[in-house]
Amino acid sequence: MRVGVIGGGIVGLAIGAELLRRGADVTVYDPAPDGTDGAWHVAAGMLAPGGESVFEFPQLERLLEASNQLWPEFAAALGDVGYDDAGTLGVALTADDVAEMAREWKHQKLSPLTGSQLRDLSPALSPRIRAGAYSPTERQVDPRRVVNALRGVLDGRFVQAEVGAVAALPEDRIVVAAGCGTAGLTGLPIRPVKGQVLRLRGEPGLLRHVIDGAADGRHVYLVPRADGEVVVGATQEERTDRHPTAGGVHDLLRAALDLVPGLAEHELTEVTVGHRPGTPDNAPIIGHFRDNVYVAAGHHRNGVLLTPITARLVADLVLTGTADPIIDDFTPGRFGCA
Ligand SMILES: Cc1cc2nc3c(=O)[nH]c(=O)nc-3n(C[C@H](O)[C@H](O)[C@H](O)COP(=O)(O)OP(=O)(O)OC[C@H]3O[C@@H](n4cnc5c(N)ncnc54)[C@H](O)[C@@H]3O)c2cc1C
Repeated sequence: MRVGVIGGGIVGLAIGAELLRRGADVTVYDPAPDGTDGAWHVAAGMLAPGGESVFEFPQLERLLEASNQLWPEFAAALGDVGYDDAGTLGVALTADDVAEMAREWKHQKLSPLTGSQLRDLSPALSPRIRAGAYSPTERQVDPRRVVNALRGVLDGRFVQAEVGAVAALPEDRIVVAAGCGTAGLTGLPIRPVKGQVLRLRGEPGLLRHVIDGAADGRHVYLVPRADGEVVVGATQEERTDRHPTAGGVHDLLRAALDLVPGLAEHELTEVTVGHRPGTPDNAPIIGHFRDNVYVAAGHHRNGVLLTPITARLVADLVLTGTADPIIDDFTPGRFGCA
């Protein structure tokens, strides 16, 4: 069977690779030669099934957790993609921050930790931090390395082109996985949600865990890579422009340094802006769209985490016509467009 995948971001590539593995003849269409237009290029790569999203759309929690369980095997098949299971320390600076963060910790049934218990686990944390919690199941991966590895799997199967209309493609089945570009191709309600992210670099080893914290009402996460890079994210703005702003960078740096003062010595190496593909309920759209067309888009804040399960569900659907019923809450039809 010939399958065309529109979009060579992390979701489209993973679907393409899974279809190829199961014997389909796959072509991936994407206009960006180096593929840096996608949200994946900016994303920190937190694999955090317990975040805010589960309060917005409760059915999403099961999908996030199911995908989280697939990550160790998915990463191992791709080689070294920075998959790291040291876990996440949730931390809070002020009493108000504790009240805000405690909602997530309680939902995840995590035991509260004092400031000194947190510093035993991660000595670089500020002595001003009041409380926190350790989540062993919230891990991280490097999305840039994942995309590189997937591009290797699909070598020779790319067409460098922006697809203007789904009907123009010759394949038997078409999967639209074009992130924010999916709206223009399908009419589905997917909107860009701007996020600014910083990358710092210093001596490796300052942090071992992902830090997910609140500092004086500013929410920030710090994702340390083995090579000394620390990804600091992210703003969340209902905007379509691609400009970093003084206020956005200031808020991220201030919160990061409030939580981990030693980051002040790090070099600021990158300021990037990306757009999360958001939907009206902030849950992804995965399923049959119409005729020979399938959609996998709108993954918003969790597209990296949801990549393995999306690839598996879409490959099942395209090749066999059915998939695990977990997909039923995420169909395009819930927006009345299919
Ligand atoms: C600031 C920020 C931080 C994030 N942090 C995390 C995180 O820590 N963990 C997590 O799980 N997720 C995170 N995300 C979300 C995640 O990056 C996205 O959900 C994910 O990248 C969506 O993958 P995608 O392949 O659908 O879209 P994208 O990664 O955006 O890729 C879409 C691709 O489609 C191509 N395309 C668009 N239109 C067309 C067309 N007409 N024809 C052909 N190709 C087209 C584009 O060129 C692009 O390559 C973050 C996102 C942002 C912006």
